[in-house]
Amino acid sequence: MKIALIAHDNKKADMVAFVMKRMEFFKREDVFLYATGTTGRLIEEALDQPVVKLLSGPLGGDQQIGAMIATGDIDMIFFFFDPMEAQPHDSDIKALLRLAVAWNLPMACDRTTAD
Ligand code: PGA
Repeated sequence: MKIALIAHDNKKADMVAFVMKRMEFFKREDVFLYATGTTGRLIEEALDQPVVKLLSGPLGGDQQIGAMIATGDIDMIFFFFDPMEAQPHDSDIKALLRLAVAWNLPMACDRTTAD
């Protein structure tokens, strides 16, 4: 299973806590992790396991994940976006959310749903 993980700055602590709590799942041999740059580095440190790191979100990472969705290379998304702060790459975020829905992928955008 190929999983994409993205967390905005104010949600990174939440993402790390979630991944740590579900460590057994995320460390499974049939689980492959892809993440935007900074999120990926933090998850890599938390799991002590390599994560495929794409570009940082504002530099194109969201678009890279969007492209992977469109080519069938992502099965599930954990996208902890920040509902309280404007992001410079808002158009990329919108495009990613649209593609995830267009391709009918399971996507969790908060801790409760992710759990
Ligand atoms: P980051 O990108 O993981 O590199 O911080 C996420 C984002 O802000 O979209």
